[in-house]
Amino acid sequence: MKDARRGSGGWGTVRLHQGQQRGGDAKVAVGAMIRVVLVETTHPGNIGAAARAMKAMGLSRLCLVNPARFPHAEATARASGADDLLVAAEVHESLASAIAGCRLVVGASARRRRLACPELDPRQCAERAVAEAAFGEVAVVFGRERNGLTNQELDLCHHLVHIPTVPDFASLNVASAVQLVAWEIREAVLRADAPPAGVEEDDLPDAGEMERFYAHLEEVLVEIEFLDPNNPRHLMRRLRRLYNRARPDRTELNILRGILTAVQRRAK
Ligand code: SAH
Repeated sequence: MKDARRGSGGWGTVRLHQGQQRGGDAKVAVGAMIRVVLVETTHPGNIGAAARAMKAMGLSRLCLVNPARFPHAEATARASGADDLLVAAEVHESLASAIAGCRLVVGASARRRRLACPELDPRQCAERAVAEAAFGEVAVVFGRERNGLTNQELDLCHHLVHIPTVPDFASLNVASAVQLVAWEIREAVLRADAPPAGVEEDDLPDAGEMERFYAHLEEVLVEIEFLDPNNPRHLMRRLRRLYNRARPDRTELNILRGILTAVQRRAK
């Protein structure tokens, strides 16, 4: 399905910078550059749910560090169509091996840790991950269901990402945490592809065309005696505010000019 905010649907792409991987300037899916690492996941269902969460957001690379049970029917069932990610999942014996080759490693933690690496919120984490994915591989690491990531594992991370929750219940299901971080990554990819906020590719009139419209509007309002030129008050300023908010495109402005002309014809 086509995403309304993108020119082309599908996975976001980043332009690899000169001299980087795969021989330079090729466009590579962000989804393959940002890996999700699950450390010692106990429940295979959580692995499947994480794969599903990733796939829906365009992430394709799943790395598992010593999963308790994998592959497993429950993982496949919970992946619900994202089993291609499970088939391709890499199984590692240590976190160090799972993050090998990554230029940025972010650890997801339910707890805010003292003496930990600098903390990012999920949006900052996603923006950073997407920006760095243009230069090399990135990992986001998720911990054990029961007790998260060890301090030694967090020592391998450049940053910590914490999903804000109510203060006294901060621990999300690991696949839910993957979902939220992956969604922010998707949003960051869409933002990176989209024109800056408020700028659309519409055929907008320029200032001169708008001035001619306002002059025409004022002329008609005087002609039909809605506007008293001797006591104009703030009518034109208010109308300008209205049209500035609406930002009509050229076609819409032509319609408005047409209406004004038709009113003038009747008034004569
Ligand atoms: N009791 C554990 C919670 C583990 S939840 C602890 O105190 O760490 C399993 C994993 O899900 C965590 O290691 C973390 O990677 C992720 N997670 C859960 N809640 C999170 C949150 N609020 N912010 C970031 N990651 C979270």
